[in-house]
Amino acid sequence: MTATADQIAALAEELAGILGPRGVTTELRGREKASVDGAKMSPILAEQLPLGLADLVAFPADAEQIAQTVAAAVRHGVSVTPRGKGTGNYGQAIPMQGGLVLDMSKARAIVEVGEGYLTAEAGTPMITIEQAARDAGQQVLMYPSTAQSSIGGFLSGGSGGTGSIKHGSNMSGDYVLALDVVYADGEPGLVHVEGEEAQPYVHTYGTAGIIARATIALEPLQEWVGFYASFPAFDDATSVIRQIGWLEPTPRLVSADLPTIANALPADTAIPKDRASLRAILDPATIEAATALVEGAGGRVEEVREGPQATVKISMISYNHPIEWLQKSSDQTYFHVEVSGAALVERLDEVHQAYPGAMLHIEAQRDHPIGMLAAPYVSPEEVYAGFDRLTAIDVGYHSPHQWFVDWNVERTRDLAATTDPSGLLNPGKLPEPGTESTAGKKA
Ligand SMILES: Cc1cc2nc3c(=O)[nH]c(=O)nc-3n(C[C@H](O)[C@H](O)[C@H](O)COP(=O)(O)OP(=O)(O)OC[C@H]3O[C@@H](n4cnc5c(N)ncnc54)[C@H](O)[C@@H]3O)c2cc1C
Repeated sequence: MTATADQIAALAEELAGILGPRGVTTELRGREKASVDGAKMSPILAEQLPLGLADLVAFPADAEQIAQTVAAAVRHGVSVTPRGKGTGNYGQAIPMQGGLVLDMSKARAIVEVGEGYLTAEAGTPMITIEQAARDAGQQVLMYPSTAQSSIGGFLSGGSGGTGSIKHGSNMSGDYVLALDVVYADGEPGLVHVEGEEAQPYVHTYGTAGIIARATIALEPLQEWVGFYASFPAFDDATSVIRQIGWLEPTPRLVSADLPTIANALPADTAIPKDRASLRAILDPATIEAATALVEGAGGRVEEVREGPQATVKISMISYNHPIEWLQKSSDQTYFHVEVSGAALVERLDEVHQAYPGAMLHIEAQRDHPIGMLAAPYVSPEEVYAGFDRLTAIDVGYHSPHQWFVDWNVERTRDLAATTDPSGLLNPGKLPEPGTESTAGKKA
């Protein structure tokens, strides 16, 4: 339910008292900035924008202020949509019913780094966390290609990235060790949950509780190199992508693109024009084996680069980024679908036939590869019709064209019934029982 002007004004006044006058804004520009995310990557969602506008935006500086801010909003009956960096690409961070956007960007302190763990405030960028871990001789298990995105946003809306070949997704149960969560149940303060008890808050878009502080697992630091190869054709790259992903020690990332997508990436001498590109973050001990695989498939190694900057650069052109670059570089409107399965390498032609003009961006994983299948956009119906064609060739898919929680929905609904009885947390994102969604089979 949308809040009245009186409720908003009373909350703004109280928040100015808690956070200081600069800790809250009701100015239109600030509200508009806080009401968009990466949803425009989907032409289906882009046609529906704007999907909501915040009435006010708060900038708490730490976990305690996050808890105080949520408690104030609950007292005034105003909904709360948490926001990290706003890079989520399905509209999950859009305040569908207005109300308060809880911008976490000022809550960005590393609280503690210990042996095998790191604790940070919700708004801390993942790249800052990786750096802090490295300074302590450790590394995060995984970080998303949106390396500037926040830990709270990555845990709540993201799933994987650099490190996922070995560690899977951030929902695996090993990634999150503990959380300090804030409920909208009228009981102010932080609730500390650990281990199994922390997992139900992951990937729920803040609908069952807001993550104010997170403790994630670390592992011993490894040396990594950025490995660039190119091939005459994409088939050559996909013929070895799995084998490269299976090398030991396990690579942190292995991505490959068709020449058309590679041409759209930022100019780089290691990504030659009109050739398929394969980029990997490798343990130096595997360079020789990776080189043999590349050359055996008719490719050539373009460059091997050392240092953390080189590997982060490769991360930042992985996962959804090549599709975003393709979209930016062309007058053509492209949509994409997240896909998975052995068919991506074993029956690439059939995968490409799912949509006219389709092009696959692919990521190696331990079990089966995943990817983003991009194609020229015609209509929502054409996009959805392709889901059946993908299923028919045993390709798993996930639609990036809807903003609902689509993982463990019932568990989240049950939890939210207690932690958010009035439905104030990120309203519109937790589907009602029986609601149709186009999410489909999880990729
Ligand atoms: C080009 C591109 C590439 C991407 N690549 C990847 C990738 O490699 N891997 C991946 O997993 N994702 C990827 N994404 C999706 C997205 O960037 C990530 O999920 C990112 O980690 C989200 O973090 P954020 O800080 O931007 O969160 P936001 O977009 O601000 O929020 C994401 C969701 O979490 C909620 N939320 C934010 N903070 C909190 C909190 N503290 N407590 C509770 N809920 C909260 C928001 O309400 C929203 O529902 C990509 C997106 C784009 C556009």
